[in-house]
Amino acid sequence: MSQFWRPGSERPRTRLIDDDEGGVLFVPAPPSSSSSSGFGHSSLERQRKRLPVYKHRDAVLYLVEHHSTTIVVGETGSGKTTQIPQYLKEAGWAEGGRVIACTQPRRLAVQSVAARVAEEMGVKLGEEVGYTIRFEDVTNPGVTMIKFLTDGVLVREMMDDPLLTKYSIIMVDEAHERSLSTDMLLGLLKKIQRRRPDLRIIISSATIEAKSMSNFFNIRRKSLAQDAEDCAPNKQPAILSVEGKGYAVEIHYVEEPVSDYLQAAVDTVLLIHEKEPPGDILVFLTGQDDIDAAVKLLTGHGQQYGSHYSDLLVLPLYSGLPRGEQDLIFTPTPKGKRKVVISTNIAETSLTLEGVAYVVDSGFSKQRFYNPISDIENLVVVPISKASARQRAGRAGRVQPGKCYRLYTEEYYLKEMSPEGIPEMQRSNLVSCIIQLKALGIDNILGFDWIASPAPEAMIRALEILYSLGIIDEDAKLTSPTGFQVAEIPLDPMISKMILSANDFGCTEEIITIAAVLSVQSIWVSIRGVKKEFDEAKLRFAAAEGDHVTFLNIYRGFLQSGKSSQWCYKNFINYHAMKKVVDIKEQLHNLMRRLGIAVKSCDRDMQAVRKAIIAGFFAHACHLEEYSQNGMYKTIRSSQEVYIHPSSVLFRVNPKWVVYHSLVSTDKHYMRNVIAIDPSWLTEAAPHFYQLRQPNPIPY
Ligand code: ADP
Ligand code: MG
Repeated sequence: MSQFWRPGSERPRTRLIDDDEGGVLFVPAPPSSSSSSGFGHSSLERQRKRLPVYKHRDAVLYLVEHHSTTIVVGETGSGKTTQIPQYLKEAGWAEGGRVIACTQPRRLAVQSVAARVAEEMGVKLGEEVGYTIRFEDVTNPGVTMIKFLTDGVLVREMMDDPLLTKYSIIMVDEAHERSLSTDMLLGLLKKIQRRRPDLRIIISSATIEAKSMSNFFNIRRKSLAQDAEDCAPNKQPAILSVEGKGYAVEIHYVEEPVSDYLQAAVDTVLLIHEKEPPGDILVFLTGQDDIDAAVKLLTGHGQQYGSHYSDLLVLPLYSGLPRGEQDLIFTPTPKGKRKVVISTNIAETSLTLEGVAYVVDSGFSKQRFYNPISDIENLVVVPISKASARQRAGRAGRVQPGKCYRLYTEEYYLKEMSPEGIPEMQRSNLVSCIIQLKALGIDNILGFDWIASPAPEAMIRALEILYSLGIIDEDAKLTSPTGFQVAEIPLDPMISKMILSANDFGCTEEIITIAAVLSVQSIWVSIRGVKKEFDEAKLRFAAAEGDHVTFLNIYRGFLQSGKSSQWCYKNFINYHAMKKVVDIKEQLHNLMRRLGIAVKSCDRDMQAVRKAIIAGFFAHACHLEEYSQNGMYKTIRSSQEVYIHPSSVLFRVNPKWVVYHSLVSTDKHYMRNVIAIDPSWLTEAAPHFYQLRQPNPIPY
């Protein structure tokens, strides 16, 4: 049993209030006199002490010591993510080889905060402070004391260590985002807590329904584990609110709705730059495409209009951004310049940028949406919630009074914007989630302790797909070996199934290459004004079968070039992405070895490769319905209209039958990464799925 309420044995000198629901609320504390034992250089040390959370250092440690669960609510930038794990380490929670975990929903945030904390502690990243994201483990077991990781990775770790025994404390950060993995994790942690009274949980976020989170974790009935009497921590969650030091933010709305938020955002940036005093600008757009477009428009302006606009330092921010460019975001703005960061939702709460005085809010974000009726999941641009809008505005008031320009009307904000977002759990395809829970021994998925229950339609759809993939049986249990093997592979279940089937077709070598390519964002570099050269480069590798086979050609070319960056540059291929592909492929190789699967090559038998792809992706089959330059297809499953994405080598080729990897939706549904198939392969691969009009009812 852990016992290290270190800074003195008394309660901290802050006022504790028992609120009516039984939780404990801390009111803002007077400046605390406790000292931190961190090393690091002094200016960083001074910065640490200036953060709002520092005043609550003792309170955090006291609550964590005495309560199983502590909920910390505090404005973005108050120091929750970077400081609390350090306080815990300083208080001894990482002694005896145990580890303090801090989860984030986003990979980029994991890398960025881990790097920051390592810097503050004056240690090399990957030693005392490390991080793990899928396919990238930068930790040193036995040495790493503070580990940042995605919530998804932590759920995966439970497969090997169901009680997460190596962790003394798990901090579930950014809980308000309610990512699918966060929700799974919260339910699972609640279960673990019953068996491990020594485990402490911290739930932290910027805006949270602290009460509902507290109710969720409030286990009133006696713990099933042996009561350790006096030493046992209080089961009632404590709530700590860290007041921010935000300045007032003046909100400006547009008078008329804008038709093109991208252009409106660019115009607003230029207007701010012209009229407003110094201060950086943070622009919220939706994804890499529109961010790149806005960067291009703004830098174009710089060149076109000369000196005044050349003061603008325009930087994109989205996940998948190379490390070097990420670092630029955090470096102080050079004198005489104005930084303009154009970001996805990631800057809403996960990352704090210093020096922002102006926020431009498009009112949109990209979100995953799954429609169980059409069985289509894609990333769509949707209006944000009021909660998000407030968060975004708050980014402007960190260092001085700020201004937020909302590219929507006040009436829209007041009358139409929904108060809160929908948890990802309720708008996702649940296939992966179900496999993971089943692999953890939770068979009754609907009966699982969800913080918000998933939609039954989505659940039924997922079970149906899993059944047709041979991953679960008639009793909805994981099949052996396929189901259990799929659960072991940290990829989308359709990809995992494709990999396992490749064994039957003798093409595992090719298929894991394809799987590795599909795991990186894009292996092409984004094109700016060189469309023709880009298309020519692509033609050099294009395979008649489609994109997946094209990837094999590119991979072969890359190896033959000796993994040359020059070669990549010449062919418009993203060198970093290719290095990552090589790395992921090696990890998949190791995984195959662990699963006892021999990795064989089929040489040039591309029919084998396509059949293996279909074994995983038969549910994504489409038929050409309308011949035209870019023909209209319909999904076999639900007759949805879809089109081949212009980035595909099969764009305008219009094969009769195709299978796609994923969809993106803008004006239409576009299929990305497409291969041509023979329809007879579909019934061969999935007789249940394609021959019965009514799918088998599946128990769940
Ligand atoms: P919270 O989790 O409460 O939003 P953080 O712990 O992420 O706050 O950040 C606290 C402060 O640390 C920020 O206000 C910022 O000043 C600083 N900070 C965090 N990450 C970085 C970084 N990568 N570079 C420079 N400063 C950073
Ligand atoms: Mg944070």
